[in-house]
Amino acid sequence: MIKPFPKVENIHAVAIPFPNDSHLISANVYAIGNGPFTLIDTGPKFPGIFSYLRKELQKTGIKLSDIERIIITHGHIDHFGLAVSIQKAVGYPVECFIHAEDSWKLSKKHIEEEMWNPEAENFMAGAGLPQKEIEAVRKRFSFFRTICDPLEKISNMGAGDRFPVNGNHLEIIHTPGHTAGSCCIYDSTNKVLFSGDSIIKHITPNPLVELKRSLLKDPSYQSLKAYLGSLDKLAQLDVRYVFPGHGEYIDDLPGIITTYREHHLQRREMIWKALKQDPRPVYDLINDVFAFVREGDVFLAVSDITGHLEILINEKRAELIETGPPALYRAV
Ligand SMILES: [Zn+2]
Ligand SMILES: [Zn+2]
Repeated sequence: MIKPFPKVENIHAVAIPFPNDSHLISANVYAIGNGPFTLIDTGPKFPGIFSYLRKELQKTGIKLSDIERIIITHGHIDHFGLAVSIQKAVGYPVECFIHAEDSWKLSKKHIEEEMWNPEAENFMAGAGLPQKEIEAVRKRFSFFRTICDPLEKISNMGAGDRFPVNGNHLEIIHTPGHTAGSCCIYDSTNKVLFSGDSIIKHITPNPLVELKRSLLKDPSYQSLKAYLGSLDKLAQLDVRYVFPGHGEYIDDLPGIITTYREHHLQRREMIWKALKQDPRPVYDLINDVFAFVREGDVFLAVSDITGHLEILINEKRAELIETGPPALYRAV
């Protein structure tokens, strides 16, 4: 059980419990307004979750047919997985919004055919993953397909867009890093920030490598660099509560941003020191920075290290010495 969310006018939080072994604890869905409602994220399509969500919303007097739009913080299945189920239950296509940099991740073509793609395979091999590990990541990606329905009709949203909700508005803040199209949603009246996976209390969010780079509007995108820039952006906001995509609410945004920045600085130094000892591929750096990586989570670790390497290279503190695969890096 997570600590109950504080009561804030016109915000109804549903924390959908995750299986015990999940480090994410819960998937949080928020209904905003007092009718009609805007939903922020939907949760994944795990068995039983849809009826759980429906019941929890009903407890606060919200029927699915009262939902007028869905804002999706980013293109991950645990955030949009139930959007189609909601549309089907309502009987009409409730308009769904997501940032353009992530919208293609919701398509049938991507989910069914391209989630695992040659770019993914090349990236894993380039990072030095043994075949067994590549297979574990591929299996994990295949599992993702089973907990969402693709969304073909999607509306794009962008930085600064405002959605009216009961005389109030929700503002879209583009906070790339976890994904290129990740957004936070800011309710300036209540000083509440809906942070998706950009801010989470119990874990440091993973800036994930974008594998289909050809589909990004900004081909020079670097996930960790973008993420640190997004933290700077969020630090400017006047926020009383952060309502994240997973786990408990946060009442000290500046504090958690400081913790994240320190964490990333320390990790970067660890990587630099390890490379100083001897050049190595990304995969061989995992043991230097992570105490433990669960099977199938290797992609998260490799993404994190890749983000740090990109910054070290930007800072001219590391360089690529062999393109591989696996690609070999050394400290400068
Ligand atoms: Zn995510
Ligand atoms: Zn998530």
